[in-house]
Amino acid sequence: MAVPGLDQLLAEGVRGARVFVRSDLNVPMHDGRIGDDSRIRASLPTLVRLTRAGARVIVASHLGRPKGKPSPELSLRPVAAALARLLDCGVSFSTDCIGPKAEAAVAELAPGQVLLLENLRFHAGEEKNDRDFAAALAALADVYVNDAFGTAHRAHASTAGMVPLVPRVAAGDLLRSELLHLRVVREPERPLLVILGGAKVSTKLAVMEALAPHADVLAIGGAMTYTFLAALNQPVGASWVERDCEGDARRVLAAAERAGRRLLLPSDHVVVQKVEAGAARRVVDAIPESWIGVDIGPRTAAAYAGEARRARTVFWNGPMGVFEIDAFAAGTEAVARGVAACRGTSVVGGGDSLAAVNRLGIGARIGHLSTGGGASLEYVQGLVLPGVAALEH
Ligand code: ADP
Ligand code: MG
Repeated sequence: MAVPGLDQLLAEGVRGARVFVRSDLNVPMHDGRIGDDSRIRASLPTLVRLTRAGARVIVASHLGRPKGKPSPELSLRPVAAALARLLDCGVSFSTDCIGPKAEAAVAELAPGQVLLLENLRFHAGEEKNDRDFAAALAALADVYVNDAFGTAHRAHASTAGMVPLVPRVAAGDLLRSELLHLRVVREPERPLLVILGGAKVSTKLAVMEALAPHADVLAIGGAMTYTFLAALNQPVGASWVERDCEGDARRVLAAAERAGRRLLLPSDHVVVQKVEAGAARRVVDAIPESWIGVDIGPRTAAAYAGEARRARTVFWNGPMGVFEIDAFAAGTEAVARGVAACRGTSVVGGGDSLAAVNRLGIGARIGHLSTGGGASLEYVQGLVLPGVAALEH
């Protein structure tokens, strides 16, 4: 990669320099409390190296979708406290990410200290990649480091616009590590198994189209199963089907067939009449009228897990069922254990997929847990990530 990394940056020296780190601290937040903190933890190595090298570290991130104006429940302030605890050092906080408040907070920052800026998306200029907003961010920094892999597929002010305006730039350790591991999916040791699940065909269509001819086996689970079954005129009962995606599903099936690849659909299903904990459930091969598919069945789960154990490379994105409800989590759990048992390289991406793996406590047995959902999907399908491209100029 043409982009300099932290090694090079630190070799040149950053002592006393104002280093702006674009991290991805977009963690799930419930009533001001942080849920899964994986993304914060994944951001630490870069921050630790920079503070140890005596940089004045300015950390910036977005959180949720505040739509360009301040929204108290999406404040990053709780994340500053979590960072302070995990880094075991004081972390100051600026209630605005640009302007006099941010500038004053930066001025007070001593070498080796960390400042977290308030949610970038409290300003509409962030997502619009506005020139003035980008310039205001750039004015805070002598050095720019992008470590926000999860946002690298967005051309926003903090990931793209400000980059050419800062004299020195580098990729952080997390960003580099993500690219390194996900490249394995693009250039895999075969057989390559891709398991795709989750809620919608529509959000994963592009990756399916790109990977159906590339993967030796593409295994489908989750809610998108039923759109595929509907496209094949198989019974789906009252399962969630994206009617306007049936044509797309047929295209994916045809692309796999043309390339001589195997595309697997579930052969059995867990069905209920109401999607709620405690609902009466059945395991069926054909979904009866008015029943709703909520998980892949045990036969399908065993088959997918078996594929994962035999594969040399596995990429998994998207839960196999409504795993948030324990009774519908067995398929996701069996697949997760299969992926963990893969003797080759395993990569799992996606917010909900990571939550599932972490809940099972088997994250440490997966080769690489990608912190980026959308970004990892775009990268494995061979797209250029604007956040990476900006560093290369
Ligand atoms: P990721 O965040 O890992 O990319 P997605 O966001 O695409 O995954 O999908 C996760 C969501 O899909 C979960 O909330 C899960 O409940 C839902 N889901 C999975 N299977 C089904 C199903 N059969 N019916 C409805 N929702 C489902
Ligand atoms: Mg999700």
